[in-house]
Amino acid sequence: MNHPTIHLPASALILLIGVSGAGKSTFARRHFLPTEVISSDHCRALICDNENDQTVTADAFELLHVLAAKRLKRRRLTVIDATNVQAGARQSLMDLARQFDCPLVAIVLDMPEQVLNDRRKTRTDRSFADPVLHRQRRDLWLWTRYLEYEGFSKVYRLKSPEEVDQIRIIRQPEQ
Ligand code: GDP
Ligand code: MG
Repeated sequence: MNHPTIHLPASALILLIGVSGAGKSTFARRHFLPTEVISSDHCRALICDNENDQTVTADAFELLHVLAAKRLKRRRLTVIDATNVQAGARQSLMDLARQFDCPLVAIVLDMPEQVLNDRRKTRTDRSFADPVLHRQRRDLWLWTRYLEYEGFSKVYRLKSPEEVDQIRIIRQPEQ
């Protein structure tokens, strides 16, 4: 069987896109070096020792942007592990990619509602109120339909845990 494949340039800004629990951090851990991944949760933790503290979100994203810019300046492949579901949240990262003339790739983890609900029941590290998840799912539906027209050079959509499980990532070697 031919495994579905994601082809990545040696240097790129990669946005993982998906609601809480979609599997972004798991995917990032599996496919990328820890130093290649900039996570909004980790940035929150660096600031206040609590990755769930939503009150430091603005500072956390400022930090995330600074880190991403430093890496892109050196043309290091950079993965953004944040929900990135709203177009507004993506815009500043897209500007950054443009500033450094870096290909922008979206990997959307669009899991079925049933899968998300089942995971939520068993998840112990964090609990999101229903309205938050509901809003994120609505945003994902509303705001990721036209990613191709937002300026991404490539958009990959994974729509089931099976697809996520089978995906292979092939990276262009560094020059
Ligand atoms: P995030 O909020 O999008 O970063 O999601 P996480 O990566 O933290 O994953 C949320 C939960 O789903 C965790 O309990 C993971 O173990 C589980 N999970 C993530 N990806 C997969 C997957 O591909 N298969 C299965 N079975 N569980 C997964
Ligand atoms: Mg996560």
